[in-house]
Amino acid sequence: MMDDMTVEVTIVDHPVAAEALTHLRDENTTNQFFRAELRRLSLVVVAEASRHLPTVKTRVRTPLAETDGIALASRPVLVPILRAGLGMLPAAMELLPDADIAVVGVQRDEKTHEPSEYVAKLPSRLDGRTCLVLDPMLATGGTLVAAINFLLERGADDITAICILSAPEGIKVLEDAFANSGVPITLVTGALDEKLNEHGYIVPGLGDAGDRLYGVV
Ligand code: URA
Repeated sequence: MMDDMTVEVTIVDHPVAAEALTHLRDENTTNQFFRAELRRLSLVVVAEASRHLPTVKTRVRTPLAETDGIALASRPVLVPILRAGLGMLPAAMELLPDADIAVVGVQRDEKTHEPSEYVAKLPSRLDGRTCLVLDPMLATGGTLVAAINFLLERGADDITAICILSAPEGIKVLEDAFANSGVPITLVTGALDEKLNEHGYIVPGLGDAGDRLYGVV
């Protein structure tokens, strides 16, 4: 765990996650197995990211007695970033079946190189909602920063980014971008890799997550 004023980073340490990530990294893994293992790894990282969701006390009657229970206090908003974020969505929906689902697509403008949204199907206001952003690869950080800015523009004040793999360069970009945002941002990542290469790919990484999930289209 690395502490920072505005971005709290948790690197998930779990043998199931580590095994699933090893399968994702393997260049011989098929698209079908990649999808299955991304789902398996996502279950662990989303469970970790939802550890601090607010709860309320309830009562429940078992076949033997009445006892205390717990319910989640509010419906989170899942925000998969197109397209690779969709690969994490089934696991997140399974763990948080009540969640609302918003979708964000970000692309880089060919002239300005600035990231801009090409899809943003989000609630108009996100004040008081727990937003869980799903994006497997935190590489340069440009896409995630743009997506988090869309959420902040809509009043979001509780944002967790959930990634499978992160590069140190991307974490730094995230920290710099939100140093003065006044909103604490949490990052939960399955692993922290060594670096980015000159093409913006994470090394050792796993290649292009979208292509490995869905094929080269
Ligand atoms: N996106 C990917 O899918 N892979 C990388 O290594 C970097 C960004």
